[in-house]
Amino acid sequence: MIEIPETYVLSEQIKQTLTGKTIRRAVANAHPHAFAWYSGDPVAYDAMLSGKKITDSNPGTGYTCGGNTEIICEDMLLVISTPIKYHAPEKKLPAKHQLLLEFEDDSHMSCTVQMWGSMFCAPVTDKTALGHFTNTHLPDPLTDAFDEKYFDALWENTKPSYSAKAFLATEQRIPGLGNGVAQDILFNARIHPKRKLETMRENEKEQLFNSVKTTLKEMKDLGGRDTEKDLFNNSGGYRTILSKITLPHPCRVCGGGIIRQAFLGGNIYFCPTCQML
Ligand SMILES: [Zn+2]
Repeated sequence: MIEIPETYVLSEQIKQTLTGKTIRRAVANAHPHAFAWYSGDPVAYDAMLSGKKITDSNPGTGYTCGGNTEIICEDMLLVISTPIKYHAPEKKLPAKHQLLLEFEDDSHMSCTVQMWGSMFCAPVTDKTALGHFTNTHLPDPLTDAFDEKYFDALWENTKPSYSAKAFLATEQRIPGLGNGVAQDILFNARIHPKRKLETMRENEKEQLFNSVKTTLKEMKDLGGRDTEKDLFNNSGGYRTILSKITLPHPCRVCGGGIIRQAFLGGNIYFCPTCQML
């Protein structure tokens, strides 16, 4: 899945690069993938999209929720949770793709599923199609609506025996905040991913709230994480503190070793010195 900071980067790049381009042809499901999801029949995408201009793009804040990139094509809406790539005219296209838009200037945009991903297409006014997004309009952590009061309410509605990772990154409590960004958020708050909510002091809860806001903002402002690729296939400028890239290196704060463990469906990374259990 694409997480919040990268959807901000993608949607901004789409706005700057694709707005005004007219879709000549849309090809969906050219290379069927078991975990590629479409709204309705992908064969119908061409009829829905060809001849339309790209008019805008949002990071899941317009019609759906965090973790999606929304591309508005006049009266049609694409909601995409896969990586998205731009291909200038005559540039090589990916060998496999699950959605390809060909523009009238011979450039292309492609989506290729990694693990799983959705590429929904529906009229912007179609509430039924968009009903898939049950968490529509939950506040995005990068907006003012996601304030400490809102964060406290999420906390109160979560079982006290839940771990910090489960609180942040499971059950779509905060759509678009996934296991990837959770690692640095927890590190910056100096909280171990397995710490149970009931063991945390008030000031630790505040640190976690502040870290959600500031860490995601830094990731977005620096063009996404260095573990992820943008619209032009470039890595982001945010240097991850805890990721597969930094695992072989000492902790940036204390110089100790970083640990990787499987926990709740995904690897967690932590520094056992800086994030005591
Ligand atoms: Zn450390």
